[in-house]
Amino acid sequence: MAVHVIGAGLAGLAAAMRLAERDAGVFVHEAASQAGGRCRSYHDPVLDMVIDNGNHLLLSGNHAALAYLSASGAARHLEGPPHAEFAFVDLAGGERWTLRINDGKLPAWIFDKRRRVPGTHIGDYFSFARLLWARQEKTVCETVPCSGPLYERLARPLWLAALNTEPKEASAQLAGAVMAETLARGGKACRPLFARAGLAQVFVDPALEWLRKRKVAIALGRRLRALELVADRVTALEFTDGKIAIDAGDSVILAVPPMVARDLVPELETPDAFRAIVNAHFRIDPPATFPPIMGVVNGTIEWLFAFEHRLSVTISCADRLLDAARESLARQIWDEVAAVTGLPHSMPLWQIVRERRATFAATPAQNARRPGARTRWSNLFLAGDWTRTGLPATIEGAVRSGYRAADLIIAA
Ligand SMILES: Cc1cc2nc3c(=O)[nH]c(=O)nc-3n(C[C@H](O)[C@H](O)[C@H](O)COP(=O)(O)OP(=O)(O)OC[C@H]3O[C@@H](n4cnc5c(N)ncnc54)[C@H](O)[C@@H]3O)c2cc1C
Repeated sequence: MAVHVIGAGLAGLAAAMRLAERDAGVFVHEAASQAGGRCRSYHDPVLDMVIDNGNHLLLSGNHAALAYLSASGAARHLEGPPHAEFAFVDLAGGERWTLRINDGKLPAWIFDKRRRVPGTHIGDYFSFARLLWARQEKTVCETVPCSGPLYERLARPLWLAALNTEPKEASAQLAGAVMAETLARGGKACRPLFARAGLAQVFVDPALEWLRKRKVAIALGRRLRALELVADRVTALEFTDGKIAIDAGDSVILAVPPMVARDLVPELETPDAFRAIVNAHFRIDPPATFPPIMGVVNGTIEWLFAFEHRLSVTISCADRLLDAARESLARQIWDEVAAVTGLPHSMPLWQIVRERRATFAATPAQNARRPGARTRWSNLFLAGDWTRTGLPATIEGAVRSGYRAADLIIAA
């Protein structure tokens, strides 16, 4: 039995690892010259350092992502505080606070003024529980209050980060799913974790090494141009460099972005609206006492990450910034970074990375367009953060989708 995995993003890599554990003959075909897809690192010539295409944050409740990293031995490279702590600053008034979610399931932090968000009341928090039972067609703001200090200072930043979609149009069900797996499970499931060494070093390279050790063939720079679909089967794969026959008993996992999947298999219904993420990187040493991650409210910037010799900013749902002039955008962002960190006004070396189609728009309508892992072709399976994982487009969703597709093949 051979399984061909198309796409070496995290979904494809997770699928390949799960299959290789079971001794299947696995072949990975990736169009780009490097693996990782939307979760990758590269050398930036302007900064003359390796950067990530975007800062990626996991929470300790992301169990599939952690299992994926553990399998390749890379989980130990994730960094984060020992407890669920999030430093915040409000750029409007300069107020700073640290949200401290207690480890246990009982939300004691809500009752403690020193742990919860300043200006909020206990009752505010309980109203958000409604998301846990939200109906499919509802948006976040149709389900819970979208105003007031709790919304502005915690809920909006968290939902924007998790869903990459404005809460007024974002799916309440997807927000509820994130909440059920993190906040509702207490601080143990909410520790922020990130790859300080770089996305490639943590999420991609160890997985590739693990796969190669198990004789999985990984072809980079090999784009799938077409699938030959006859009756209820894929019978051949046509790549830019040749054709591969798919024999009886062989399977294919399509782990490519949704619009590519639809070009290859026009019958598929997939999400077709997307949201951008903008990252700005500045080559400078962060102040010694600066936390690894800081949430920023009432500014253009939303999250500020401190790396070695680099400060890096994430702005979600950033379509409004796609056409902004790069230099003035960098200036605007740096002014805020300088205000938050106390660093000088003069701008260090910078780079702006705009990912136009960072994730599908996590609206109820787009969520309803997500297909499951099975297709009407018996040996063709789908994987990717855009498939029906029950989660928004995240690493956790991508890994789960890969595992699911692999498990279906193993079960068959
Ligand atoms: C800037 C940014 C910030 C993010 N931040 C976070 C975060 O903080 N936390 C989080 O959990 N998630 C975050 N995400 C989302 C996360 O990166 C994605 O959910 C995840 O990487 C998706 O993996 P995937 O394998 O589903 O898709 P992709 O990474 O898109 O992989 C698809 C692969 O298929 C390949 N391919 C395409 N066409 C073909 C073809 N014809 N033949 C062969 N191969 C092909 C592509 O080159 C690619 O490698 C972020 C995303 C971005 C862009």
